[in-house]
Amino acid sequence: MKRRTFLSLLGAAGTSTLVGGNAQAAGNHHFEGYPDSFGVLFDSTQCIGCRKCEAACNEVNELPQPEVPFDDLSVLETQRRTDAASYTVVNKYHPEDAADPVYRKMQCNHCQEPACASACFVKALKKTETGAVIYDESVCVGCRYCMIACPFNIPAYEYNKALDPAVMKCTMCYPRLQEGKLPGCVKACPKEALVFGKRETLLKLARLKIQKFPQRYLDHIYGENEMGGTNWLYITGTPYEQIGMREDLGTTPAPKLTSGALAAVPMVVGLWPVLLGGLYYMNKRRDKAAQRAKEEAVSEAVSVTQNEAQATLKQAKEKAEEEKQAAIKREVQKALDEAAKQQSADNDDEEA
Ligand code: SF4
Ligand code: SF4
Repeated sequence: MKRRTFLSLLGAAGTSTLVGGNAQAAGNHHFEGYPDSFGVLFDSTQCIGCRKCEAACNEVNELPQPEVPFDDLSVLETQRRTDAASYTVVNKYHPEDAADPVYRKMQCNHCQEPACASACFVKALKKTETGAVIYDESVCVGCRYCMIACPFNIPAYEYNKALDPAVMKCTMCYPRLQEGKLPGCVKACPKEALVFGKRETLLKLARLKIQKFPQRYLDHIYGENEMGGTNWLYITGTPYEQIGMREDLGTTPAPKLTSGALAAVPMVVGLWPVLLGGLYYMNKRRDKAAQRAKEEAVSEAVSVTQNEAQATLKQAKEKAEEEKQAAIKREVQKALDEAAKQQSADNDDEEA
């Protein structure tokens, strides 16, 4: 049995249990990751740049046909990024001192603690127990904070769509996972450059490969720790920065990095959904309804500000009162202590 098949069966068995259960969203709070989640291991030493994964992704996600057909490999000469019609792209690199080119597939890395989900105040992006970071178009307000937040520059936006544009990105073929199927790209890869399985199993497999072929691989599994870890993992024999991957991200999950900054601007965070919601409606309907939405948004924003200001004032008053009472108590106690001390000294004098 091929290893890919083995891992996929393992995955399918576990996935149906997981997805059938209560798949929880990570939401917008700090989150440690799901220990039994799934992922994909990409091995750049096995990728031949055939673009079959791109074609499969296009088909299963019913994306528009590309201008350049998938069997035309000349596009590999251009550095591409994911866009609204391509959830995944393969790029070709010519690393220093390498006789042959190296190919690297790019898509959403399905972060353990996704910056995109953390930035999305309406929770349109969610981390599921499967490991997939999924998107709910029906609640998205089109603010595109997820696009700014993603350290891998992945989410794209349907700028060309006049009605209801959406954020577009790989979902690890979440609907297929729910049916116990492999992600489209993994199924299509003819070279086993993509392996699906439990993240923990994939990490073991990656370590085993690195251990067995130290000449072939760098001792670094990309995604094991980057940004708190990702469910899409990579191994390669080429320095990651030479195949277009950021090595400056560190290991701190994005929500931890931003929590301090957000806490420092509570008023702005409070207004955020209200104002952006208003902007969204203004963009969508430039008519009387939009004007009404704008007025409502501004009026609600003002009301939020006033409420917050009153609450802050009340808190400050209460704190000042508490401090005043504490200071009085301290002074009274000090006076009592001094009086007691004086009394005791007087008693000593009398006895003498
Ligand atoms: S790679 Fe970007 S879009 Fe994908 S989960 Fe991470 S932050 Fe979100
Ligand atoms: S299908 Fe496999 S070998 Fe072909 S480009 Fe995609 S990852 Fe590489």
